[in-house]
Amino acid sequence: MGKRVRIASTKQIVFGTFIFLAIAFGYKQSELTSLFKSNAGEIITSLPIELPEYEYNINTSQFTTVEGTIENGQVLSEIFSNFGIGINTLHAILEAGKDVFDVRNLRAGKTYKVLKDEEDQSPKYFIYEPDKINYFVFDLTKEQDIQKGQRSIDTVRRQFAGEINSSLWNAFSDYDIPSSQIPALTAKMEDALAWTVDFHHVQPEDQFKLIYDELYVEGELVGIGEMKAAWFSASGKEFYAIRFDNGDYDGYYSLDGRPMKRAFLKAPVKFSRISSRYNLNRFHPVLKTRRPHLGTDYAAPYNTEIYATANGTITRIGYTKGNGNFIKIKHDDTYSTQYLHMNKFAKGMTKGTFVKQGEVIGYVGATGLATGPHVCYRFWKNGKQVDPLRENLPEPAPMDQSYMPEFNIVKKKVKQELDQIPFNVAVDKESIADANS
Ligand SMILES: [Zn+2]
Repeated sequence: MGKRVRIASTKQIVFGTFIFLAIAFGYKQSELTSLFKSNAGEIITSLPIELPEYEYNINTSQFTTVEGTIENGQVLSEIFSNFGIGINTLHAILEAGKDVFDVRNLRAGKTYKVLKDEEDQSPKYFIYEPDKINYFVFDLTKEQDIQKGQRSIDTVRRQFAGEINSSLWNAFSDYDIPSSQIPALTAKMEDALAWTVDFHHVQPEDQFKLIYDELYVEGELVGIGEMKAAWFSASGKEFYAIRFDNGDYDGYYSLDGRPMKRAFLKAPVKFSRISSRYNLNRFHPVLKTRRPHLGTDYAAPYNTEIYATANGTITRIGYTKGNGNFIKIKHDDTYSTQYLHMNKFAKGMTKGTFVKQGEVIGYVGATGLATGPHVCYRFWKNGKQVDPLRENLPEPAPMDQSYMPEFNIVKKKVKQELDQIPFNVAVDKESIADANS
């Protein structure tokens, strides 16, 4: 409820001006009271005004707020009609805001708010919140449009040290990382280390340390920001990945300043396991005979994304009885890769399509000769199939010497920070449970 300031005396005019300026500079009411105290030297116990509360760039204190959750199968016209908003108004708004909001992006389970006029209870704004950071404001008044907004995000630099006892997932969840953040954190850790660490072969006692940003909205953890640096130690070998942007390439570098990005990704799928390696004398599970297995099989759930492991051009795409749906990519005059048993191809994949490293080319399936969902990854060198896990692929060139002094400063600081992160004792969930029972 916004009350008006009634200016009756000189003192109040000064006070009112002060309040106005303070609002303009974004002070909150509590800060204001103390500011006024220290400046005026006297305490005014009852402030004559109530300051407006701004959210979504709207003075929400002027409105009655009704909150709701989008139900399964519920469409916008149904929600709008519940608030007495006609279909014509909805269409006009969606038309006006079509470049900002796609109505197909409405999701069940997400929250919305309707701001109603305090006097006549007519709806003035509809606010859709697809996640904890972004929101869309539908203006239902004469202006009829849609504005996209973002809450202010606080970034907190976080350090983490963990040890793999069973899986990478548990290495995070055994500590205080909420499960909602683990997929993003794991993906960013893989981005930093995927070229040097084989995440399909993590072992108990492997250790790692990370420095990254956590994203907060109003004190709540809502996401993972940039991964600044990572360290991984596996069977006595240490790997550092330092994020650095030299203007040519913004990415991860080893301590000697070489980009960690390789010509080829280690695997064509994330979060999978190798179910069968390249083997010249394998017993075939379907054909029941011994014959060489010239690929590496990665087992993964149906429709897991399959990535091109390097930049290249699709030279073959189609179906055969053995391969099922498959794609073959030529990377250069020496190397080609092939991906078999796909459930389906990604959109836009045809012979001659240029694909980039990490681009989704298809989805895991079990088409052709396959016992279960997996991708059979085949690596060709000079027309012969070889084991990519045993290939000594060329090292990337170090960055230009002129960038090294700046890189060395960043590296020294970040390495020191990584080295000093202590290994804490994992949260023992069982003993907590015991104590509670
Ligand atoms: Zn295979």
